[in-house]
Amino acid sequence: MRLRDEAAGIAGEIAELRHAIHREPEIGLDLPKTQAKVLAALDGLPLEISTGQGLSSVTAVLRGGPGPVVLLRGDMDALPVTEETQLPYASAVPGAMHACGHDLHTAMLAGAARLLSTRKAELPGTVIFMFQPGEEGYAGARRMINEGVLDAAGERPVAAYGLHVTSQRLLCGTFSTRPGAMLAAADQITVTVRGRGGHASTPHRAADPIPVACEMVTALQTLVTRKFDVFDPVVITVGSFHAGTTDNVIPDEASFLATARSYSQESRSALAELVPQLIGDIARGHGLTAEAIYSAEYPVTVNDAAEAAFAAETIAAVFGAERGERAEFPLTGAEDFSFVLEQVPGAFVMLGACPPANDPLTAPTNHSAHAVFDDAALADGTALYAELALRRLART
Ligand SMILES: [Zn+2]
Ligand SMILES: [Zn+2]
Repeated sequence: MRLRDEAAGIAGEIAELRHAIHREPEIGLDLPKTQAKVLAALDGLPLEISTGQGLSSVTAVLRGGPGPVVLLRGDMDALPVTEETQLPYASAVPGAMHACGHDLHTAMLAGAARLLSTRKAELPGTVIFMFQPGEEGYAGARRMINEGVLDAAGERPVAAYGLHVTSQRLLCGTFSTRPGAMLAAADQITVTVRGRGGHASTPHRAADPIPVACEMVTALQTLVTRKFDVFDPVVITVGSFHAGTTDNVIPDEASFLATARSYSQESRSALAELVPQLIGDIARGHGLTAEAIYSAEYPVTVNDAAEAAFAAETIAAVFGAERGERAEFPLTGAEDFSFVLEQVPGAFVMLGACPPANDPLTAPTNHSAHAVFDDAALADGTALYAELALRRLART
């Protein structure tokens, strides 16, 4: 039987696991309930299983015959969002929701482990299943790498693949990937402007940090358009800005947080150098001081050209060419699977999971309290994980 049909045959169980994870979402690096569900789903399969030390990860190794190693990754963590979907399996935990669809990734990867386990005898190599906590800002992938996930099979994988569902833009069941940059690098800028507080009626006797911080916010947008190549795009967004308590008091400090997205090492390095310099110069120009901390978070997610082509071929061969899209542009989101792809060539593939009743162009996006991901994507996501591993092992 074809893997795709076998995946369809266990779609009900994959959906059950997904719903169980969805009902009890956990955030960050410590996901004991999710980890227990994954371990239960893998129980009885011929896998070498280990769990994380500093995070509740699960690494499962399926050893077939002699041959190379391939890694498949699914992330497991939820977001600090209170669900408002009214789904029958909606989150039972206020303030936590699988709003990015990682519950689907976990269930699909467990499904793929099950399908490939039945082929252990004829498997021409080894598969590492990487069940990862802490994708949403905790760099869980880097932690798993530090704990040895890339060496779990005794030798480095020749290829690594990750899947990500999207609640909008793509039609349900459509896969999308591209060679080169797939997602942006995401870094954080933390700015504190220090002035001198005083009475709002006599600003000349104080050192007001608020207009200076406002100038920095707009100057950052000018920096983007004047210092960066328009064909190597950069996005800076100030998402948090705080100062003061009331209208007649000048505060001592103003502070803001920004995210910086970029697609090349040149731009990323330039951001890390130019942003703190600009902030400091503006503060000095007004006789104030400022501290700007540029924290490197997630690198650019770069698909290996050959692996992205292989993923696209696999999608076309298994599901038909009409089910695959070559993404014209990278996305401005970021992924910590980028840490894996820095060390192992591979590809990250998006999968449309927008419910057929929703218009993909207007459906609530990933991270929304209203985001809905359709179970219909589960079987094909499971099949693609398994096919990528099987075909990649057979190729070398
Ligand atoms: Zn997300
Ligand atoms: Zn995500």
